[in-house]
Amino acid sequence: MEFKQSNKMADVCYEIRGPVIEHADALEEAGHSVLRLNTGNPALFGFEAPEEILQDVLRNLSRAHGYTESRGILPARRAVAQHYQSLGIDVGVDDIYLGNGVSELVSMAVQALLDDGDEVLIPAPDFPLWTAVTALAGGKPVHYLCDESADWLPDLDDMAAKITDRTRALVIINPNNPTGAVYPRELLEGMLDLARRHGLMVFADEIYDRILYDDEVHHNAAALAPDLVCLTFSGLSKAYRVAGFRSGWLVVSGPKQHASDYLEGLGTLASMRLCPNAPAQYAIQAALGGRQSINDLVLPGGRLREQRDRAWERLNEIPGVSCVKPKGALYAFPRLDPAVHKIHDDEKFVLDLLLREKIQVVQGTGFNWPRPDHFRILTLPYADDLDAAISRIGRFLAGYRQ
Ligand code: PLP
Repeated sequence: MEFKQSNKMADVCYEIRGPVIEHADALEEAGHSVLRLNTGNPALFGFEAPEEILQDVLRNLSRAHGYTESRGILPARRAVAQHYQSLGIDVGVDDIYLGNGVSELVSMAVQALLDDGDEVLIPAPDFPLWTAVTALAGGKPVHYLCDESADWLPDLDDMAAKITDRTRALVIINPNNPTGAVYPRELLEGMLDLARRHGLMVFADEIYDRILYDDEVHHNAAALAPDLVCLTFSGLSKAYRVAGFRSGWLVVSGPKQHASDYLEGLGTLASMRLCPNAPAQYAIQAALGGRQSINDLVLPGGRLREQRDRAWERLNEIPGVSCVKPKGALYAFPRLDPAVHKIHDDEKFVLDLLLREKIQVVQGTGFNWPRPDHFRILTLPYADDLDAAISRIGRFLAGYRQ
């Protein structure tokens, strides 16, 4: 008897933790040290969890052993609601769903919406969970292009041209992973206007909303479009540096009377996963209410800012490599000029880099970028480690041919 994966898996890919990982594991087992620059996991790079978050979780641990309400504990939902109210978004505790990370909530939100063949507009490049979850839900991911020559901002004309009568939702990832683009208000308004004109639900993935460099300002999609049904996603994995707690939230805003049936479905999915991990829910109130230590990290002289600068400078020094300066988030997405670096298969490129230099990055096509001419690198390692890693990538590229 042979067990095969279901047909539903046919278009489901998640290369950030893809097959190259097995090679990295094998190298480590053979005694090599591998620099893992594939997952945006701050804990791996010396970022500590904020003390106030740890204390609150510990203080509540002895009463966190039971299931909670499916949507999550009230104090945490209240803290999330108050946070978004302070940003001008009209929501209450019943509009908040806590989850085991944003990832679980993305999966629930998409599954509750799509019928087979329904289309979802997703950026290219994207955080690939959105594409994978859409495919798994029987939907069709339709990618709108982000324009590298315009600081990776989404191309509104391309987006408009891809809307059909099957399009149900628009995904906005701002700040974007992998490009680090932060969207100006006018552009967001243009995107939201398309959603308005075509009756689309808005999924706003804003998990990097506090990781902004160079005086960038983050605009919440929900605040700009109170007349649209908008689901905003964020959580503790990045700015609060506790990715392993698996703690995130989803906020429903806008004219919910037009989404009551959808919300019933979302509620059923929330109940089916019983509840989010309870101890981690106790981290949310402390995180949102306390001092925002992330600000120190992104300011000039702050660790993340310095690392972003260093990665961007060093990448641009490699012949045939160019990189748009990331304005937010934890990544850089450099381009390999096809006239200089002839790469036909970027997964092979990533594997060859791993085998030769013991550095693991992720190929651009893993982010649904249509050509094999990009890769993503984290800006999480210390600046000197980034320096060393990027020098090795440059050395590797100098002699690399496919
Ligand atoms: N959304 C984006 C844009 C991400 O980059 C990530 C993780 O890298 C997630 C969501 C998932 O976050 P979580 O750890 O909350 O599941």
